[in-house]
Amino acid sequence: MKLTKNFSLEELVFSITALNNGWDNTPNPEVKATLKRLAVEVLQPIRDAWGGPIHVTSGYRCPRLNASVGGVKNSQHLLGQAADIQAIPMTSNHRLHALIKQMIADGRLKVGQCIWEYGSKTNPKWVHVSLPRVGKKNNQFVYYYS
Ligand SMILES: [Zn+2]
Repeated sequence: MKLTKNFSLEELVFSITALNNGWDNTPNPEVKATLKRLAVEVLQPIRDAWGGPIHVTSGYRCPRLNASVGGVKNSQHLLGQAADIQAIPMTSNHRLHALIKQMIADGRLKVGQCIWEYGSKTNPKWVHVSLPRVGKKNNQFVYYYS
């Protein structure tokens, strides 16, 4: 099911870990609607500004999947509010991160959190982006270096 021009529900739900373990990572209707918002309000604007394909490595996670991949208990992935994305090639992840930062600075994008996830100080392994959260600090930048 297509959510936007370049993002499908399937890619926001797919998980190799869930598949390998036989876990059903199918979201409920509320989560599906949230994933649609994530695609419309966050992912597609980034994709359009980027001008090329973006790989989603993790979107929605059922509780079992979230726990198994070491996700935090209040992860926005559990609600369909977050996606981990990579540039193609992955060595351009730092440019993707810089673009998101610029879009937020320009007021063209609003996120809950933008997290530089692992990799090195020069290139993240992936970038976590999420929908803004009601009553919480948004457009928050977090950096996790390994
Ligand atoms: Zn994430």
